[in-house]
Amino acid sequence: AKQIDGNEVRIFNLDAHSREIIHKPNLERELRRAIGKNELTIYFQPIIHTRTGEIRYEALLRWFSAKLGPVSPEVFIATAEKSGYIQEIDRWVIENVCREMGIVHQRLKRVSINLSTKTLESSELEYVLCSACARYDINPNQIELELTEHTLLRDEEELIVKLGRLREIGFRLAIDDFGMSHASFNYLRVLPVDKIKIDKAFIQNIVYDSREFHIVSSILSLAKKIGVDVTAEGVETKEQALLMMGAGCDELQGYYFSKPAPNDILLKMSEKTKNQWLDLVELNKV
Ligand code: C2E
Ligand code: MG
Ligand code: MG
Ligand code: MG
Repeated sequence: AKQIDGNEVRIFNLDAHSREIIHKPNLERELRRAIGKNELTIYFQPIIHTRTGEIRYEALLRWFSAKLGPVSPEVFIATAEKSGYIQEIDRWVIENVCREMGIVHQRLKRVSINLSTKTLESSELEYVLCSACARYDINPNQIELELTEHTLLRDEEELIVKLGRLREIGFRLAIDDFGMSHASFNYLRVLPVDKIKIDKAFIQNIVYDSREFHIVSSILSLAKKIGVDVTAEGVETKEQALLMMGAGCDELQGYYFSKPAPNDILLKMSEKTKNQWLDLVELNKV
């Protein structure tokens, strides 16, 4: 629901509250204070590995502003990208995800972190990641970096080299929102990635619309052929989960299993996810 038009970031499909605050000039100022005021927190959403039932998590940032109320990431991430403050935010997320992984090691074995293109361009990214891993005793292969493209890559060559280095160190790389960018297939062609995450827009209608299902299953078979894993995002119903599992999708993520939630209910979340998965495995047999 995001479109970049010169320097204008226009956002659609937002609720009234978000539409109202996005134009407030103090949004950026408040965001810059959010870290110091302890208003940012990380939620986790389970991702189920269909073959083994292993549960991984995606870290999703939440901002509960004392002044503005809860602000949607669609709004504040766009603001932060425009102002350049996103690098600091992503760095805060890396540090705090790793810290939480260090505390609850056995639950948070594998976590995905979203990175903005601006953060990828930062020269300190490799250091920030490696330093956090070293301090919290985390193996880089426990961390997956999700890359989304809203803007054209300015220096593709440099980015490819950078991502290659991160992958050599052991970090996993995923293309997020696959299919939603006009350049999705080009990223798949040139970037050294381990995984694509098919955007939820592609999953929404697969149960009713065979045309949409064929598009998704073709992406799956293409990915299989080139050795790239696939996650289905936005799985909201049992029928969608069954279809994607039957089609050989590697991972499923969505409200059907669990909404993103704070780490103190991780155990409850993973139990529910596991039960939903066991259900699917049974249904898949008949
Ligand atoms: P994303 O990385 O594609 O994350 C998936 C979004 O889909 C999340 O929205 C999640 O809450 C939502 N979602 C998950 N399952 C379902 C479902 O079954 N149905 C529906 N309708 N939605 C579902 P959220 O948390 O609002 O985040 C929005 C975007 O903000 C993320 O999209 C990501 O691009 C960005 N973002 C979030 N946290 C960070 C961060 O720490 N750094 C950066 N750079 N971006 C972030
Ligand atoms: Mg993501
Ligand atoms: Mg996504
Ligand atoms: Mg997204």
